[in-house]
Amino acid sequence: MVPSLNSIPAFDNKLQYASMEAEISAAVLDVLASGRYIGGPVIEGFEQQFAAYHRVSNCIACNSGTDALYLALRALEIGAGDEVITTPFTFIATSEVISAVGAKPVFIDINPGTYNLDLRQLAAAITPKTRAVIPVHLFGQPVDMDSLMELATAKNIFVIEDCAQSTGATWGRKKVGSIGHVGCFSFYPTKNLGGCGDGGAITTNDPELAAMMRVIKNHGQSNQYYYEAVGVNSRLDAIQAAILQIKLKYLDMWNQQRRAIASRYHSPLSQIPGIIIPQELSKGKGVWNQYTIRVLDGKRDWLRQKLQELGVNTMVYYPMPLHLQPVYANLNYEPGQLPVSEQISHEVLSLPMFPELSEEQQEQVIYALKDSLS
Ligand SMILES: *Cc1c(COP(=O)(O)O)cnc(C)c1O
Repeated sequence: MVPSLNSIPAFDNKLQYASMEAEISAAVLDVLASGRYIGGPVIEGFEQQFAAYHRVSNCIACNSGTDALYLALRALEIGAGDEVITTPFTFIATSEVISAVGAKPVFIDINPGTYNLDLRQLAAAITPKTRAVIPVHLFGQPVDMDSLMELATAKNIFVIEDCAQSTGATWGRKKVGSIGHVGCFSFYPTKNLGGCGDGGAITTNDPELAAMMRVIKNHGQSNQYYYEAVGVNSRLDAIQAAILQIKLKYLDMWNQQRRAIASRYHSPLSQIPGIIIPQELSKGKGVWNQYTIRVLDGKRDWLRQKLQELGVNTMVYYPMPLHLQPVYANLNYEPGQLPVSEQISHEVLSLPMFPELSEEQQEQVIYALKDSLS
């Protein structure tokens, strides 16, 4: 097979938009004509739909996944003097919000198979100052929520699920984001449920927490012009909510397409020497926001370049773990302290993954990998 001349993007959302252009345009035009651009029935409709999808009693729409995490920490009154445990192998937003509320991020290492928190290290990291843990269902793979909830309950700490990359993933019979105390979602365009701009949401079954998050996201206002907390402005636009309402109907189908793509990658890639395919836990059903392999023997950057020459674009999520980032120099982590995340950050390579990736394109990716490595 000769590589085709068309290069394959790591991510593409134009095909998806084209498949639903008429439906989205009509909904956007309706919002424009309604004059209700902030708040109102479209936002409320989306919140109800998203809560029902997750079988939780409350959903609060907000401006981004970052804000969702921030609002959760604020509503739980986590701040100066508190510690929050999370993974160093995630997008900066996860730890950024811990710092933003004045608390201290405490990083524990990851499992090299799933790239998620190594829960065996959690108990030892809990101190009297620990208030919460933020598990990240990275690349769409659910964290083992049974073990996590058992330990968190025993130690009386909150669990804030970072579901930014895992909308629609399940652990057992439950959706991620409905298991911990709070679930935080992002609708950034590259996420599984991606809007046409920024957006986020929070899910919880705790009505008091939900009420507090609503107050904080709306300038701390509980009644009009009566402020009970220092708040922020974090609203989802009605235009985004209208688009997300439509897209939510298709989310399970898209996630199923991602799963089919992942299973088509698994078997041929597992035969190729020098790479390791991602692992799934049996009780988790992931949604493959990324399909991320490990490239051994220091060949990752070389392979990435070679694939690009063959028309296959890839991404590196994430090239440097958070505990070694300059912004956290004050936390005094040493290189070698969280060895798995440090090693993995030099090995990971995320292959093209989006629901519309065709079988022919996928064959080209597999061919390019075989060609480069054997
Ligand atoms: C994207 C992302 C966020 C932040 O979401 P935004 O909507 O971009 O603010 C948080 N955590 C993880 C793991 C993410 O991938």
